[in-house]
Order: sequence, then C-alpha cells, then structure tokens
Amino acid sequence: MSERKPLIAANWKMNEPPVECCTPESPYRSTDNVDVWVFPSFINLHCCCDNGLITGAQYGHASDQGAHTGDVSMKMIADQKHHAVLCGHSERRQYHYETDAFVAEQVESALKHGLHPVICVGESAEEREAGKEKQVVQTQVEAVLSKCEDAEVTFAYEPVWAIGTGNTATPDDAEEMHAFIRSLLPHPDTSRIIYGGSMKPENAEELLKMPNIDGGLVGGASLIPEQFQEMIATAEKLV
Ligand code: PEP
Repeated sequence: MSERKPLIAANWKMNEPPVECCTPESPYRSTDNVDVWVFPSFINLHCCCDNGLITGAQYGHASDQGAHTGDVSMKMIADQKHHAVLCGHSERRQYHYETDAFVAEQVESALKHGLHPVICVGESAEEREAGKEKQVVQTQVEAVLSKCEDAEVTFAYEPVWAIGTGNTATPDDAEEMHAFIRSLLPHPDTSRIIYGGSMKPENAEELLKMPNIDGGLVGGASLIPEQFQEMIATAEKLV
C-alpha cells in the first residue's frame, strides 16, 4: 500500500450542500482507507462540522483580522475547528485576482493556525497549447514551497480547462504532471497530490490508479451523493 492515504474531497463551491450530507449514512464521511473532506460555503461549514464531517473552507484570508469587508481569516476558520482550506483555487485566482504571492501568504497563515492547506495549481488551455503547462505549474508550486517547510500539505493539480467543463485530463497527461509536481517537492514520497477537473465515476478509476494520483478534488460530481460515493468506493478498491 502507498504511504499516502487517498483523499477524495468535495468542493461544493457556491452551491447548497446535498441534503444527505449530514445523515449518519452520509457518503461524505471518511472510510477506513480513504479520507473524505468537504468544502462547503462559509454559511454551511458549521452545520457540516457539527455533524461530524471533516470540513474545509474554500478560501481564507492571510491576515488574522482587520478591515477586509466580506473576508474570513484563516484564524477564524481554525478557531471553529475546521480542518483544511483550499488555497489558490483557479476560480479564486481568476475572479478574485489571487496572485501566487497572495496564495503563498494564505498557505503561511493556514499553517500558522494549524489548518491543512490544499494548494491548487494548474495551467489554462492557452498555456497548455503554448507548451507552457509545466513552467506555469512549477511557478505556482515554487511560490508556496518556502512557506511549507516540513508541514503536511496537499497539492491539487487542477488544469483550468478541465474544471467544470466535462473535459478531463487524460490519465497519462495527469500522471505526467503529478510526477513532475512530486519531483519539485521536498518530501516527494509522503506528499499527497490529488487531481481535479471533471472527475466523475466514469473516469475516476483510470485516474486514481495512476501511481502519482493520490485522490481527487471533485466539484460538480460531488453534489450528486451516489456519484461521490462511487468515487470513494473506487478509491477504496484501489488501496
Ligand atoms: C473544482 O472546482 O475543484 C473542480 C474540480 O470542479 P469540477 O469537478 O466540476 O471540474
């Protein structure tokens, strides 16, 4: 068995959580061999956490407090006993102009407060067409590495062109990028790198069986409990 436990994470974005999520039989709970984390909106975090799900925020501000209307700090998220936080999701980079430097500050603050950062990296379609995908991803990874030191963090490789589009990276392309990211990390054998971008039951197995793909960050399909459960079962089967 790999020393990296698979992680299947649900990114619910700005959607209501599935009604089944907090029931005792919820498919959004970790299993013996698979970590399952959920990333609901800030409004829904509390309820999910109180019902025993392992929760993370979709974003957190690096400053602990201050004049940042509409923001929530890493400190506040950690104080509420949430476990993780997404840093640098491409929708935040694109629509909220988060830069690599800002993402690095988020990672530093998350770690300072004991949150587990899930650091999202990935190239756009134009960058891939121009043959720059590795260069772009390397820049994004290296921007945060000095903040991670020996801390446990997760990277999520999410090609922007695959998010919410139904176009998934081929398992070979995803594996190549995951292996490349791993080669950049100080603790390659123990660092978890998960894939995101239109993962669904139909493609989960071929992605998850790749040696460098340690799980998935799932958007659309995570809102459908049966589909999410199927992906967890696939991960469990491959352990
Ligand atoms: C995401 O938003 O992180 C994501 C991977 O979304 P989707 O699965 O819908 O492509």
